[in-house]
Amino acid sequence: RFIVFDGPDGSGKSTQFRRLSEFVHDNGIETCEVREPGGSSIGEKIREILLDPANDEMVLRCEMLLYMASRAQLAEECIKPSMMDGQLILVDRFISSTLAYQGAAGGLDPSDIMAVGEFALQDVWPDLTVIFDVDELTAQHRLVGKSKRKKHLETTQMSLFSDRMELKGADYHRNVRQGFLDQAEANPDKYLVIDATKKEEVVWKNFITQLKKRVET
Ligand code: C5P
Repeated sequence: RFIVFDGPDGSGKSTQFRRLSEFVHDNGIETCEVREPGGSSIGEKIREILLDPANDEMVLRCEMLLYMASRAQLAEECIKPSMMDGQLILVDRFISSTLAYQGAAGGLDPSDIMAVGEFALQDVWPDLTVIFDVDELTAQHRLVGKSKRKKHLETTQMSLFSDRMELKGADYHRNVRQGFLDQAEANPDKYLVIDATKKEEVVWKNFITQLKKRVET
């Protein structure tokens, strides 16, 4: 099985990713775990280009193609072989992010994104995409908290948010969220939406319960 973790910045998806990873390891299940953009050495180089604040003149189509290029490498190099081995594949962000960020929020046509996605991924598509849904205000509070904690830890001066994408405005983030919710509404069999506004432990309990239900059916 191939499960994607996705959602707006500050949704806590990466924390839930770690929790599921620990949970499945404790149950003796072998996994392949990767994050996006990145997950392969070529992909990590692409991630650096994408998240570098110095590249803020990057046009949207270039941004979309870079995300997809990283994903093509990840699919062929890591996901496909792990699928063949029958492993559980856990991926932090996937094409659902491109549809939400560069599509719903950025303005690119979702059918163009899907066409590029089909070319990039070939037959490597997730069985389930879990969306950790959070409103902009809660997300923003979490991100500011994260940034303050980082500031405390690092001696160098940091900008308020840690990367280029997190600098975008409230409207952008609202559209990102809606973009995720619309995908889920259009494909209820392939998506699972989890309310991620609650505390970590509450989100985890709900997530694992819902996931078990999905996996069993
Ligand atoms: O998963 P993580 O939060 O580390 O994602 C890194 C950044 O990449 C996020 O700030 C997200 O906004 C951005 N991103 C994006 N478009 C994508 C995937 C990620 O803007 N397709």
